[in-house]
Amino acid sequence: MDDLLTAAQTRHHRSVTALVGTAWNDQSPAWERAAELPEETIRWCAAQGLFGAMIPEAYGGLGWSSVELGLLYEALGRVSASLASLINVHGMVARTLVRWGSDAQRETLLPDLASGRRIAAVCLTERDAGSDLSGISTTLDEGPDGFRLNGTKLYTTFGRRADLYLVLARGDGGQVCCLLERKSPGLEVAPMTGLLGLRAAGLATEVMRDCPIEAAAVIGRPGFAHTVLVPHLLEHGRHAVAWMAAGMLHRAFSACSAFVLDREVFGRNAVDHGQVQSLVTAMGVDLAAARGLCLTAARALDTADPVATRKVLMAKYLACQVLERHSAQAVQAMGAQGCLEENGVAAVYRDAKILNIIEGTPQLLERLLAVPLAREAAAGGPA
Ligand SMILES: Cc1cc2nc3c(=O)[nH]c(=O)nc-3n(C[C@H](O)[C@H](O)[C@H](O)COP(=O)(O)OP(=O)(O)OC[C@H]3O[C@@H](n4cnc5c(N)ncnc54)[C@H](O)[C@@H]3O)c2cc1C
Repeated sequence: MDDLLTAAQTRHHRSVTALVGTAWNDQSPAWERAAELPEETIRWCAAQGLFGAMIPEAYGGLGWSSVELGLLYEALGRVSASLASLINVHGMVARTLVRWGSDAQRETLLPDLASGRRIAAVCLTERDAGSDLSGISTTLDEGPDGFRLNGTKLYTTFGRRADLYLVLARGDGGQVCCLLERKSPGLEVAPMTGLLGLRAAGLATEVMRDCPIEAAAVIGRPGFAHTVLVPHLLEHGRHAVAWMAAGMLHRAFSACSAFVLDREVFGRNAVDHGQVQSLVTAMGVDLAAARGLCLTAARALDTADPVATRKVLMAKYLACQVLERHSAQAVQAMGAQGCLEENGVAAVYRDAKILNIIEGTPQLLERLLAVPLAREAAAGGPA
């Protein structure tokens, strides 16, 4: 990818890859088994400033560009999808506050989020509403003594660990996002276990019974959440997930390549067999294409390109699709060794399926992409 980056971006890429890899490479199987990230790892992220990578310097963050953030997510994805998800969900809340928070919310919350003193999580999904968030039933009702939040959220990544939740609810004027403190009366957080992947991502359900919410904890105007705030929040998440997927595919490709170059089967190295060559070639080419599209999306975000949203959707779609396909192929090419946790590919295989569901399934992304792409192509323009 270095040939696509400026000299400064190449240095940044090498530096974040070395930073994360040196600290945590080979740790993720233990995290997966323990079904949580060690507190030491979370503190390390805080000490490195990673919780503030997406927050402007004025609030104590690192103020990284979308390209710099993407390269960080790629580096994190190489090590652990759960670790990358921690920074991602926290970043989704932080970016929402940077863009749509009140001055008071920015001043009081962003420094704590940037330093990692407080960890944030995103509560959108419910039992009957995931891709189609218009169906949520959580309510934020205004009464004589202020707002009250009622409902149940599911699948909250790092919900078990979070100090602060961004909750999507139905309000009087339409959908609304608000901030809910972990210590709030009426909030019950329970672990969600038994998931296929992202096993160290501390998923939780949140049951909210008459949680008091101050007016100052409402983000933006009511009615504004569904059309503006949530799409903005998801865009940050989709961009991050696309880069994470590229990092995870890099990990699978590296492990699989080392194996097939070395393994002898039927008198030749595995890589000298035509079928293995097809598999390795497709993996390498698709990885390069996914990285290229991630970079195009990141640059579009950094330059406020009017088609940035579409570029992000395309990057998320491609990167997660090729990750899912090739992580399965990498396990196949490595045979039984691909099934061993310590070889790193088994977790990528499981996590790949999850990445192709969170922040928009391929079916949802196709619904968003098909018509604009077809219109542009029919008009003779580029895809
Ligand atoms: C490990 C993990 C972590 C997660 N973390 C979070 C989190 O931190 N916060 C949070 O709020 N949520 C989180 N989620 C939930 C996730 O965002 C949802 O699972 C996702 O949005 C899909 O929603 P759903 O599962 O309800 O599927 P549904 O929306 O019910 O979809 C079911 C099927 O219908 C298909 N479908 C949907 N719409 C269409 C359409 N228009 N056309 C054709 N097919 C369609 C889907 O592609 C899918 O195949 C997490 C989920 C997992 C598994």
